Amino acid sequence: MPELIEVEFYRLDLEALIGRTVTSVEVYDDRCVRPRGAPAEGLSALVGLKLVSTERHGKLLLANFGGVDVEETLGIRFGMTGRLLVDGKSRIDQLEYSSPKNDPLWDRFVVDFGGRRLSLRDQRLLGSIELNPDRTLLVPEASRISGADLERCLKGRTKKIKAVLLDQQILAGLGNLLADEVLWAAEISPHRSADSFSRREIETLARTIVDTVRRLTESGGSNTGESFEVRVAGASCPRCGGQMARDTIGGRTSWWCVQHQR
Ligand SMILES: [Zn+2]
Repeated sequence: MPELIEVEFYRLDLEALIGRTVTSVEVYDDRCVRPRGAPAEGLSALVGLKLVSTERHGKLLLANFGGVDVEETLGIRFGMTGRLLVDGKSRIDQLEYSSPKNDPLWDRFVVDFGGRRLSLRDQRLLGSIELNPDRTLLVPEASRISGADLERCLKGRTKKIKAVLLDQQILAGLGNLLADEVLWAAEISPHRSADSFSRREIETLARTIVDTVRRLTESGGSNTGESFEVRVAGASCPRCGGQMARDTIGGRTSWWCVQHQR
């Protein structure tokens, strides 16, 4: 599924359309519109506006449009299988868990820029679009998290650290693969309680999150981590040779090294 790194790649693709004016918006499936029940016709507010800038907050992509005395932001979320296509192409060909098929029937909405186009292709329909999402609801963002912000995220949480890192209502952007790689790099067991960390450990964890996101962005995606290749039964840890173990935490399959992650 797309994690913040993949959404950052989508954002870079979208930059190609900056300066272009929207000529039409087609919503093929109303179920992708948020808030639920909002009329899809509301998206026609974008027609006649130029794409002026792009942003990303965690897994949320924000496209800012402007015209004479008007500004609108389109928020796009990708769920499990969503892909952003610009002119029918994406720099991400296939996502883990998504079908290798790539069917234009899965296009949920299309924004036309006078011949060039932006679309959300989403097989499982867990992605969504929202006009002017409420920015006051945004939680801290993983790729630039500070120790102080992470401390606030963890404070009073008795859930396992892995489950808290995955919780998009607490920290925006980390998915399953990134969270496992972060904990592997930080030498922390995914089972530890989120409220068991000292301030010093939290500072180290925050730095590891930022560094891991940067490292895997440079190497090409959430599936390029050092721990990714050993997500199989019987595998040994590439750092210490310890045994890799598997469990379900926060509803997701987690892999960790029983020897160096404590
Ligand atoms: Zn190890």
